[in-house]
Amino acid sequence: MIRLHVPDDLAAGADLIPAPEQSRYLTTVMRLAVGAEVLLFNGRDGEWRATLVEAGKRGCRLAVGARVRPQTDGPDLDLVVALVKRARLETIIEKAAELGARRVRLAVTRRTNADHTNVARLRAIAVEAAEQTGRLDVPQIVAPEKLERLLDGWDATRPLMFCDEGGGVPPALEALRAVAPGPGAVLIGPEGGFAPEEGERLRALPFVTAVSLGPRILRADTAAIAALTLWQAALGDWRG
Ligand code: SAH
Repeated sequence: MIRLHVPDDLAAGADLIPAPEQSRYLTTVMRLAVGAEVLLFNGRDGEWRATLVEAGKRGCRLAVGARVRPQTDGPDLDLVVALVKRARLETIIEKAAELGARRVRLAVTRRTNADHTNVARLRAIAVEAAEQTGRLDVPQIVAPEKLERLLDGWDATRPLMFCDEGGGVPPALEALRAVAPGPGAVLIGPEGGFAPEEGERLRALPFVTAVSLGPRILRADTAAIAALTLWQAALGDWRG
């Protein structure tokens, strides 16, 4: 069934006018007729069934019915990722949504080839992926910030798994066994990797665990997927 993320509060009997592009998607793209049902979620009130009660050129209207799932939040997991090239970054956002990251913090590092990106487009990708993957919230996409500043302001109670391609660091799964369940974070560098001074600073921070993702150099999108997978399996909601 079609799932739509909406900003509106959701309660039984509420009437809802979806955004124009959502109305168009329902009536023109998916060609839903009056009476058709969709699922709605807003990240706060759980997931609700809704019925299309009006479908016209000027837009459509949904009548909210029963709540089908209460709000639950996935693990408190941040992905901190350097600004890599657009296509790969868009893949990373989509995979982070599917793999349950609660937040994606975009980082500008010594070797990133840009210090800005189209955050609105990344947020739209996050919404679409959240709708598809069945989660009840949309990952928050935090605008790019210099890695130094991110680390300066880091909440030291949140362990940060630094994926360090430099070698000489423990395997990720082994390292994760020593991390307590709870808020977590994963850090992935840019195509050019981390600068030596970045690695040195990171490895010296008390809340940082430098880990290896194996003997091969992974592209940033592969590394993000692998690291999030390991974290979810070891500490997150992939456990039984
Ligand atoms: N320029 C680097 C590759 C960077 S890959 C080089 O050729 O050595 C992009 C990011 O993915 C890295 O900064 C790191 O965070 C992560 N990554 C890739 N392979 C990894 C590995 N084997 N172990 C740990 N992290 C890895």
